Amino acid sequence: MNNKLIHEYLDMKTKIIFATGNANKMREIKEILGEEKYDIQSMKEAGVDCDIVEDGTTFEENSLIKARAVAKCVPEAIVLADDSGLEIDALNKEPGIYSARYMGEDTSYDIKNANLIDRLDGVEKDDRSARFVCAVSAVFPDGSEKAVRGTIEGYIGWEPMGANGFGYDPIFYLWDKDVSTASISPEEKNAISHRGKALRMIKEEIVKHENTSC
Ligand code: IMP
Repeated sequence: MNNKLIHEYLDMKTKIIFATGNANKMREIKEILGEEKYDIQSMKEAGVDCDIVEDGTTFEENSLIKARAVAKCVPEAIVLADDSGLEIDALNKEPGIYSARYMGEDTSYDIKNANLIDRLDGVEKDDRSARFVCAVSAVFPDGSEKAVRGTIEGYIGWEPMGANGFGYDPIFYLWDKDVSTASISPEEKNAISHRGKALRMIKEEIVKHENTSC
């Protein structure tokens, strides 16, 4: 009997820990996975408190580093972790995996965004291409691992726009709408975002794993 059938037979929910302290990410993962079949907890709710050094060289590596570290503390659960950031093609894909740390963790995004716009001075629209990237990793109780990547393509505008969102949203513009992701509603953004895409992909992997594992 596979794990899925055992859980259904015992009327148990599969335990999933999301390695984040961010309430918005927790809400999004619960909406996408659904709480009927899954008992979804944050690291804190699961009582996990560990310092994780994200020293990978890709989004996938960093998300796996986080998921593996948490999985050591809760080996009975499926552990998910994400890592995301902004890649600007004309800046050699900066700030990339250093998006949160760009110009220092404590520097405001008003300053970071103004700096990136300055660095693109004189660059035409077609060459201002950029994308948000989100890697989500899963570590399963049997030790197997999976990493997926979601992206959303856009370009860097000439000025910040909009009051929604966070981080680099005010300078990240959508090709088809010519507005920033800080100018659309959270629901609209979740439907097209890098994170929404990656979370839906990891859901497929979890379902696949449940159906095949013994
Ligand atoms: P983390 O993966 O949540 O640590 O995010 C890394 C950093 O990437 C954030 O601190 C932001 O600077 C940037 N970032 C990731 N996703 C987004 C987004 O959807 N909008 C704006 N900035 C983002």
